[in-house]
Amino acid sequence: MNILPKPFRIEVSEGSFAFRADGKVATDLPVIASLFGGADAGSAVKFVKGETEWDYVLRITSKGVTATARDDEGLFHAAVTLLQLTGGSLEADLPACTVYDKPRFGYRAGMIDVCRHFYGVETVKKLIDTMALFKFNHLHFHVSDDQGFRLRIDALPKLHQIGSERKGTCGDGKPHGGYYTKAQIKEIVDYAAERYIEIVPEIDLPGHTRAIVAAYPELSCSGKPTEVASWFGIHSKILCTGKEGVYEALDKIFAEMAQMFPCKLFHLGGDEVAKLEWAKCPDCAAVYRKEGLKNLEELQGYFTNRVINMLKKYDKTPVLWNEALNSGMLDKSAAVQYWTTDRPSAERVAKAIAEDGRKVIMSRCNPYYLDYPCGMHSLKAMYKLEPADELGEGSEKGILGVECPLWTEHIAQEKELFEHFYPRALAVAETGWSPKGVKDYADFEERLKGVLFLLDRRGVPYVPVAECNPGKIKSALSAAAFGMKMQRGCDPTSARNWRSMSLKQPKC
Ligand SMILES: [Zn+2]
Repeated sequence: MNILPKPFRIEVSEGSFAFRADGKVATDLPVIASLFGGADAGSAVKFVKGETEWDYVLRITSKGVTATARDDEGLFHAAVTLLQLTGGSLEADLPACTVYDKPRFGYRAGMIDVCRHFYGVETVKKLIDTMALFKFNHLHFHVSDDQGFRLRIDALPKLHQIGSERKGTCGDGKPHGGYYTKAQIKEIVDYAAERYIEIVPEIDLPGHTRAIVAAYPELSCSGKPTEVASWFGIHSKILCTGKEGVYEALDKIFAEMAQMFPCKLFHLGGDEVAKLEWAKCPDCAAVYRKEGLKNLEELQGYFTNRVINMLKKYDKTPVLWNEALNSGMLDKSAAVQYWTTDRPSAERVAKAIAEDGRKVIMSRCNPYYLDYPCGMHSLKAMYKLEPADELGEGSEKGILGVECPLWTEHIAQEKELFEHFYPRALAVAETGWSPKGVKDYADFEERLKGVLFLLDRRGVPYVPVAECNPGKIKSALSAAAFGMKMQRGCDPTSARNWRSMSLKQPKC
């Protein structure tokens, strides 16, 4: 049966149910009715709330279909499963069976970077709409980076007036910009909530903040004017750790973002911090001495913990990229998103699970980063990744879930955006939902082909399955092309370029 992600258990029985006529279903939930032909209380296809230990139970007999769940979210999941079983046909004969289903992980996400290239509300909604059909339940929304700040913060209007616009992209001379008004954010958050997806906002701190310091130069170490970055790579014009104004500004941003995004999780970034300016800054030096810090990693640790403390009054759980563990002092309340692929980082993450009970989101760059082509991060590789394998025995208990991030440095069009996302994200959807130990790539690929009609119907482009696992020669060519594209996009003066993978960091 073409159900993706694969359900926990299916018991097949005799017979079938002819799901046709007008395709209407008995439901109180408009979002479920909208998946089918509409709502009709008299329909033989019923969605009802009731006690069950499962996320949902879907029972199909020759007489009809009954979906049972404790809550609306479970009913929605049942509806998605049923929709997939119809195969997109209005004349579907559904096999009699009972599906007992529940998710493996509580966090199943994709990420979209709307900073490197801005995408409007309709594109974000289209992404949310399709993610929901595969039981994703979070969208990580990367809204602040060197190349653009994408929210309207009333208390700090220059963030959108100045920080959302850049003069060009990698020397093309074409201005690029955009931001979401509060009404648009509400539209996105509400639309997602109707589909049982929460939006996890990310303001990347203290690095990747050149758009913020372009808007408010006084928040950087030097205080000198700068521009929103129009090249990629890692930039060293970032927030100062020693100026009180930085914390005051962040508190204003948090206050408004906490209103905009009801999700309990709140991402604070923490990756790729080029500390070049900190090493020369008297304000950073004053903090360094006062706090008795031993190196610049600890200065980042001080900054991050202070920011986490500020966030606590909004009752949010902080999430940070795994470099935030490098200081050895990260607040115990923070969850960590693992993306780097180096052994020391993996060991730090494993230790954080074992010793601090820390929660971890698995987003290992290779293969989960969707901006890389299929020739580098194939569908098969994405499917095969087991979230806890690299972290060692006993680490599974710390895995909050899985997420596939899509960075958009070189993805400027909606078509490319979706082709990078689909169908590979569906491998991650299955890892996040289906029980451990059932993975079978050939079976996955067959089911995948059977559910792609859901994307076709919505006009969402994707890479044909046959092209998702290229052979050695094609892979090598696409890796070379990707490397060149990354290198060309990097500012030759930035702290790290594509050729030199190591970030230049000063010593104190
Ligand atoms: Zn400073």
